[in-house]
Amino acid sequence: MSRILAVGSVAYDSVETPFGARSETLAGSATYFSLAASHFAPVAIVAAVGEDFRKGDLDLLGTRGVDVTAIERRPGRTFRWAARYGSDLNDRTTLSTELGVFAEFKPTISAEQRKSSYLFLGNIDPDLQRGVFEEMAQPRLVACDTMNFWIEGRREALDRTLKIVDLLLINDSEARLLSGETNLAAAAQKLLTMGPNALVVKRGEYGAAVFGKGFVHFVPALILDGVVDPTGAGDSFAGGLVGCLAALDRRDEASLRLAVAAGTVMASFTVQGFGVEGLVAATSQAIAERHADLSRMAGWAPSKLPLRPAR
Ligand code: AMP
Repeated sequence: MSRILAVGSVAYDSVETPFGARSETLAGSATYFSLAASHFAPVAIVAAVGEDFRKGDLDLLGTRGVDVTAIERRPGRTFRWAARYGSDLNDRTTLSTELGVFAEFKPTISAEQRKSSYLFLGNIDPDLQRGVFEEMAQPRLVACDTMNFWIEGRREALDRTLKIVDLLLINDSEARLLSGETNLAAAAQKLLTMGPNALVVKRGEYGAAVFGKGFVHFVPALILDGVVDPTGAGDSFAGGLVGCLAALDRRDEASLRLAVAAGTVMASFTVQGFGVEGLVAATSQAIAERHADLSRMAGWAPSKLPLRPAR
């Protein structure tokens, strides 16, 4: 089965939403990604954490089947991020980003992990993303996510990283920021000239669109009760999407369509809990049922997600 290697943040977040607040909770782009992807394919995280990282959090990832052997514990503090959401949950204000041990991180990847055929470059410094790519034997698919922090602060490094990316995942405001185009179709066309040959634009509660060579496909988001914290929705979406592509080991139009649905389903669990609570509680059965709900809601013919045996 195809294996995924994911680089990104493993973090402690402090988040306030109109529905409550959590401080110093396990989070980060690589954490959400791998918890979601592990339902479809084996996944390993490449990241650094500080001396303050709780053993129980590493155990939680391990018990979900995530390979944590390339998470390095280093002197210093774990990455921390703080944000506040207003009554419109699409509107978030970042209060602080502290890179901690990521400021000086040079990853070490085992010979086995170098052979992973799927590489996910999660939201983190673009030079670190490219550094991991350069260590890899020959991945079949390189997917990448980024955010305004890196688009605004590390633009040249990000442009270099985009050149090695097959599939870019980005939200709509970041697509506009990165392309300099206000119209989404024009932004997508521009981004497809910058390296990636497929692009997924995430539009929060309004769904996601995949732009490939000669096709565009749109998947609505599920209309959900009990949304309390949207943090990590984008990374969980990426985990479902890349996990599904790795399980199918294909990237044609039909596979991308199913993979965007898988991403949509995984993100729907994340937003129903604070931090990783909603995602951790999702079982294979609940994931399959929610995919059936999404298919009914969107009027698609029934299909099956390529989930691993029940977990
Ligand atoms: P999302 O809501 O999908 O955009 O992801 C939010 C997660 O990304 C949080 O758990 C943060 O810890 C993490 N995060 C926020 N800013 C950054 C950044 N600049 N680099 C890496 N990870 C970040």
